[in-house]
Amino acid sequence: MKIQMVDLFSQYNKIKSQIDIGIQEVIDTSTFINGPQVNLFADELETYNQVEHVIPCANGTDALQIAMMALGFKAGQEVIVPAFTYVATVEVIALLGLIPVFIDVNPDTFELDVQQLEMRKTSNTVGIIPVHLYGQCSNMEFILSFAKENNLKVIEDAAQAIGADYMFSSGSVSKAGTMGEIGITSFFPSKNLGCFGDGGAMFTNDKNLAEKLKIISNHGQKKKYVHESIGVNSRLDTIQAAILRVKLKHLDEYSKARNLVAEKYDKEFSKISEIKIPTRVPNSTHVFHQYTIQVKGEIRQEFKDFLQENGIPSMIYYPIPLHMQVAYQGFGYKEGDFPVAEDLCTKVLSLPIHTEMKSDEQDYIIHTIKKYFNG
Ligand SMILES: *Cc1c(COP(=O)(O)O)cnc(C)c1O
Repeated sequence: MKIQMVDLFSQYNKIKSQIDIGIQEVIDTSTFINGPQVNLFADELETYNQVEHVIPCANGTDALQIAMMALGFKAGQEVIVPAFTYVATVEVIALLGLIPVFIDVNPDTFELDVQQLEMRKTSNTVGIIPVHLYGQCSNMEFILSFAKENNLKVIEDAAQAIGADYMFSSGSVSKAGTMGEIGITSFFPSKNLGCFGDGGAMFTNDKNLAEKLKIISNHGQKKKYVHESIGVNSRLDTIQAAILRVKLKHLDEYSKARNLVAEKYDKEFSKISEIKIPTRVPNSTHVFHQYTIQVKGEIRQEFKDFLQENGIPSMIYYPIPLHMQVAYQGFGYKEGDFPVAEDLCTKVLSLPIHTEMKSDEQDYIIHTIKKYFNG
């Protein structure tokens, strides 16, 4: 039994014939760039996500950058981002000369703490980037109404949450990434909808923004060799689109499989007082990109080592909050500024969760964890 954080090979094996046909078609026609599969995939993802426009690009980080460029964010303006997340968000903010304004997160749900928005916004703030961390949506109802009141743009980072549903109090339901001005996702292989390399996409319901996103991701040109704005080169390869077309059909089934693993973990770990299981938010479904528990900081490393010795991998997402990263020291933050984010970095541990988890594998993981805590 070889336990992995994700089992991409077994997942591929189950849909191998369709994937192989898709890849072979691209090779046979040699339409490696901008082949018809790219637009077909975008259309299918529009339907799945119930969103007007999907613009594929090269990766999720590019998607964030292109989104900020399309919204016209200018150097020196401020963008609010959670202090506890993957680095991509703050990285592109800094690259564009924008100023990241960090905000602390909720200790139970890991989402940005919306109560702090009011005190973090200034007259120079132009946007908020909620990150739907680990697979469930941030408090979009609050964020969207706050943004509207304050004339801010919202870019949703749905790199970990594709397929999650958010329920508004009105009863309407939206997919993660389709609620703000722009949403983005990543098709990195281990993401919930992963390709066989890098890939990403942007979502919007705004026709003008969609046009801008397309133009910027294609060297700022609408017509070949006519450049109307400064752009980037960011495309989804046709081979990746062909793979994603096959996998999109299975996305809901994959989310279901992840939820079954999570429910079994929940049931067993809620009996162990030393483990805090991931809290579900009431207004969002969870697609469990990660199943992230919290343990006391003093035992985390020993516990992680124990799992490793018993053949069980685990990961720390993320060990250092963004405001403490050396690269971002220039923005003037210091230890103590975001106590929840700092505390979570000492406590979080993500356990194996994926679409191909066998019940004997999960039983073994649970048994080993029980052994550690109960002797
Ligand atoms: C993976 C990820 C990204 C970046 O995606 P890439 O495709 O690797 O560039 C951005 N934000 C979050 C939260 C992610 O998990």
